[in-house]
Amino acid sequence: MQAFDLKRMVLDEFPLEFLGEVVLRCVFTFIMVFIFLKMTGRRGVRQMSLFEVVIILTLGSAAGDVAFYEDVPMLPIVVVFFSVMALYRLSTLLMNRSDRMQNWLEGKPLVIIRDGVFDWDTMQKANITHDEFFMELRQERVEHLGQVRLAILEVNGAISVYFFEKERVKPGLPVMPADYVDMFEKADDNADYACSICSVIRTLQRGERCTCSRCGNTHWVRAFTNSPVT
Ligand SMILES: [Zn+2]
Repeated sequence: MQAFDLKRMVLDEFPLEFLGEVVLRCVFTFIMVFIFLKMTGRRGVRQMSLFEVVIILTLGSAAGDVAFYEDVPMLPIVVVFFSVMALYRLSTLLMNRSDRMQNWLEGKPLVIIRDGVFDWDTMQKANITHDEFFMELRQERVEHLGQVRLAILEVNGAISVYFFEKERVKPGLPVMPADYVDMFEKADDNADYACSICSVIRTLQRGERCTCSRCGNTHWVRAFTNSPVT
């Protein structure tokens, strides 16, 4: 075999008419995927759980193969689709009957922020880092954690945020991108600081160094105190 052989890369030994077959195969897979999504009753990808993503990936792979591999016949794909559909229906049925089954298959909602700070136990158990959902929090118009009474990480990865009333907002860890906040090992003023990892708040004196009692981190960020946007 010769590398960078243009003829092989473009069409190889296939006759030009094979491209027509590819079009037909594409129409076929498109219709199959479309029927599948219609039958599941899903409206969009944002509400998909991890479990559903796995199913879509499996189908996507099968559909992709049949779309352009000349030696992949089309009928087995129909069987794949109906089998996966049957499994999907069965698991939905089981999940509706048993909460434990649902938690196991789909995961369960996790409380990640409680009373203005991260729920550290949850974050450690679930093996999640805050960077993953700072963006989601910003999109919910959160500026710092002190505004948040309760935040729940849903099974589809979205975050539900419940805000404190204006008078009850506490100092909190800013959720701005790292470039927009200054990190201190030594307090630069007498003020409230938030642990840059677990978000615990400490009042520090100018020049004071502090090791976080919750997570052992030594880097601190000036806590924000802004009220929520109304
Ligand atoms: Zn900490």
